[in-house]
Amino acid sequence: MLTRTPQETWSLFLEFIEEKCSATEFQNWFASIRLIDVGSDDLCLEVPNIFVQEYILDNYKKDLAAFLPTKPSGELAVTFIIAEAKKKQTPLPATEPVSPAPIENQPGQPELKLNPFYTFNNFIEGPANQFVKSAAFGVASRPGKSYNPLFIHGGVGLGKTHLLHGIGHYTREHHKKLRIQCITTEGFINDLVENLRSKSMDRMKRFYRSLDILLVDDIQFLQNRLNFEEEFCNTFESLINQNKQIVITSDKPPGQLKLSERMIARMEWGLVANIGVPDLETRVAILQYKAELKGFRIPQKVAFFIAEHIFNNVRQLEGAINRLSAYCRMMNLDATEEVVEKTLSELFQYTPQKKISVDNIIKSVATIYDVRVSDLKSTSRSKDVAFPRQVAMYLAKELLNDSLMKLSTAFGGKTHSTLLHAWKKIAGQVETDETLRRQIDMARRNLES
Ligand code: ADP
Ligand code: MG
Repeated sequence: MLTRTPQETWSLFLEFIEEKCSATEFQNWFASIRLIDVGSDDLCLEVPNIFVQEYILDNYKKDLAAFLPTKPSGELAVTFIIAEAKKKQTPLPATEPVSPAPIENQPGQPELKLNPFYTFNNFIEGPANQFVKSAAFGVASRPGKSYNPLFIHGGVGLGKTHLLHGIGHYTREHHKKLRIQCITTEGFINDLVENLRSKSMDRMKRFYRSLDILLVDDIQFLQNRLNFEEEFCNTFESLINQNKQIVITSDKPPGQLKLSERMIARMEWGLVANIGVPDLETRVAILQYKAELKGFRIPQKVAFFIAEHIFNNVRQLEGAINRLSAYCRMMNLDATEEVVEKTLSELFQYTPQKKISVDNIIKSVATIYDVRVSDLKSTSRSKDVAFPRQVAMYLAKELLNDSLMKLSTAFGGKTHSTLLHAWKKIAGQVETDETLRRQIDMARRNLES
């Protein structure tokens, strides 16, 4: 029988559940769970707090039981550890490759828990994240003096937490005297619950209000938690009023969060920056970088192949590299496109191709040349209309597989030789005419968007 390691089992489950639930549900309940390597075949999961453990057991028990080991009684054979309660030095996952940034907490400073790999240096920039990266760097260089608060929002797995921790690392290194706290919204809520229980709210207030930099991850967790929201808002205002730096991340822009108007307005005070999906070249650069860190080589062509198929989540790109490198090492194979197809195809995302039709082409060309669709289909020989019509014919022959006969009918019954003539003429002209080439590119992009 093929037995899986706890890591493989957990990865399989995560892949399954990520598909099954919404991105927000995944982010809220599963993204923060960590598999703890206890060096045996047992499955041990670290959850950020008891709420997460109870929630997933209440709501996802069947799914969990389908993947994770169970006892003969049917109960899950899984140990849960609450993050706060576990020993401080959890060993780093064995897969992490390079030596991380040193973690040194200054004496007398609050303990700062940062992922050692989430530094600015390890962050690959591209057009979709350059703005937010430079905003993060600006804030880290001059805390409290540039944008306050900085609000970073964007989809799952695009590097929000990475940048937040990047600010933490940088400020710890460059502003040694400043008191920094980096916390998830869950962590803040837990703290609050704990302090309410032990009647030490004053101490908590004093602690948070004495900070110079407060980094808060995943503020969307504050939604529907009215009591906690108010305390967070008070902390927020107290810090901002003293020009202390606040950085917040979220999966949505402030206005789309179900929070009080007061809270939303506060978060919009400073700079709201969106982190987008990296473009193809950046995805390739990220893949190459992550592969290099693992001492694994992938040819450029193969990196493009992967990046073309995994396009909206950097975490999945990382997962792809991990899986591919493990497979290649195990089987002693080079990373070729065939091997990629074999090992990664279930991670691949396919966009439904928009169906291109002659009518769409005519519409798109009509917009570019500011003429009427009916004119392009008419027999008018006026130059204003005849030229765009030829462009549309050219595009139709280029983009569609239909016979000339069929295409010409769609243009109001022109002969197929008219269409062929138009195609030849435009195909020749586009070689040398830069303006025409741009117009055609634009029409093409309209069709594909
Ligand atoms: P989010 O918080 O937006 O869900 P994370 O910050 O956790 O996403 O990023 C997911 C993973 O992808 C992390 O391992 C992170 O290091 C990596 N990552 C995201 N963006 C980049 C980037 N631009 N360069 C390098 N690694 C990145
Ligand atoms: Mg995150």
